[in-house]
Amino acid sequence: MSESKRDSDGGPGSGIRDPKLDELLTAARAARENACADFSHFAVGAALETEEGAVVTGCNIENATYGLTMCAERVALFKALSEGHRSFRRLVIVATPDAPTPPCGACRQLLWEFAGDVEVVLANLEGETSRYRMRELLPAPFDRRLLK
Ligand SMILES: [Zn+2]
Repeated sequence: MSESKRDSDGGPGSGIRDPKLDELLTAARAARENACADFSHFAVGAALETEEGAVVTGCNIENATYGLTMCAERVALFKALSEGHRSFRRLVIVATPDAPTPPCGACRQLLWEFAGDVEVVLANLEGETSRYRMRELLPAPFDRRLLK
């Protein structure tokens, strides 16, 4: 494998090793173990990579009202923002289904506004299942540009 090949980011099944992605997948899997999902039993973990290479994780947190449930993606985003991070590279989301589990609409809105057109990697416990850019997941966003 050439040096330039190694530096490119491989898609699913590309066989190109990405140690940072491995770290994010491991972190998201570990975060998923902390999920408070007593009602849905749908545990999700997320790992957000900052521009500086820090990894901030989140899990979904449900409660008896259901409506106050917070998704893993937003927990990771809010934790990162509260720690002063403002620039992001990538988000990894791990859930158990074989089918990819993309972020819900509320998460897409907030991810777009605070993280921009980041890469979103969806995975299950076995590994990556698919990969998107935020602009693909939220193609016609409402954001601050419309408020000027
Ligand atoms: Zn969500």
